[in-house]
Amino acid sequence: MTAQLINGNELSRKLRGEVAERAAALKAKGITPGLAVVLVGDNPASQVYVRNKVKACEDNGLHSVLEKYEASMTEAELLARVDALNQDPSIHGILVQLPLPAHIDAQKVIEAISPAKDVDGFHIASAGALMTGMPGFWPCTPYGCMKMLESIGYDLKGKHAVVIGRSNIVGKPMALMLLAKDATVTVCHSRTADLKAQTLQADVIVAAVGKRNVLTADMVKPGAVVLDVGMNRNDEGKLCGDVDFEGVKEVAGYITPVPGGVGPMTITMLLVNTIEAAERDAAAR
Ligand code: NAP
Repeated sequence: MTAQLINGNELSRKLRGEVAERAAALKAKGITPGLAVVLVGDNPASQVYVRNKVKACEDNGLHSVLEKYEASMTEAELLARVDALNQDPSIHGILVQLPLPAHIDAQKVIEAISPAKDVDGFHIASAGALMTGMPGFWPCTPYGCMKMLESIGYDLKGKHAVVIGRSNIVGKPMALMLLAKDATVTVCHSRTADLKAQTLQADVIVAAVGKRNVLTADMVKPGAVVLDVGMNRNDEGKLCGDVDFEGVKEVAGYITPVPGGVGPMTITMLLVNTIEAAERDAAAR
């Protein structure tokens, strides 16, 4: 293996320790940072995600409230709950776990969250803030990727970054964050004519597709940094990313594993956004 591993578990431990210290400092001033996690329905993957988020809060000095509702909850009822959480001074961050049942307009619910509590960074105000370089909350997964680059001291200035995937929650915000750090950014997607021609030019590749082996060793420039956001299952049912890890690690300079890479960083950045929200609220009082 030539690539160095960027270990998301290790980096998360460090960053979560910093969150715990900031939480203790707020508590000393009589403020307990709080996150509300709202789950509608019984999607098994969502249940695991919310459990992990709540546990991460508890482990790092944040107060968390898990609100679980039946899939039959109406959109109006959910909007009323979001409104109540917006008004609740003990709650600094609100996360509505996606996907929502089909009869609920997810975008409408996201837009109902106060931007000051939008710790997922999915509100249109948060997206606008990211685009214009204003203060706001950044979506946790691409934010975690930026922290991983920071952790290896990687200077993006003048580098060519290729993002594979253009979703609103990963690909597009990832591209904007890289751009803000002076990288030259190419965004690829399912209609990209020649993906390999693009990735071979890249100093940094972020794969956020949701398909195994989208990135193979022959598509990577020697020494490139490869961040694997994808979460898939291999033939044995084991978690794997979008990147052919075994092949690419022989060519890349740095690589993130799956599991233990970007995944833990996503929850870590949720904690970071929540503590940030609580600190901003405390400063505004
Ligand atoms: P998404 O909304 O489905 O977007 C996938 C993107 O990949 C789309 O832009 C799509 O292009 C593009 N794409 C599909 N096939 C492609 C191909 N053959 N070549 C190039 N691009 C292709 O997914 P997402 O929400 O961004 O998530 C992406 C992956 O990251 C999933 O595996 C998800 O589970 C994972 N994820 C992980 C974390 C984490 O914490 N680790 C967090 C979020 C997501 P079009 O736009 O043209 O359709």
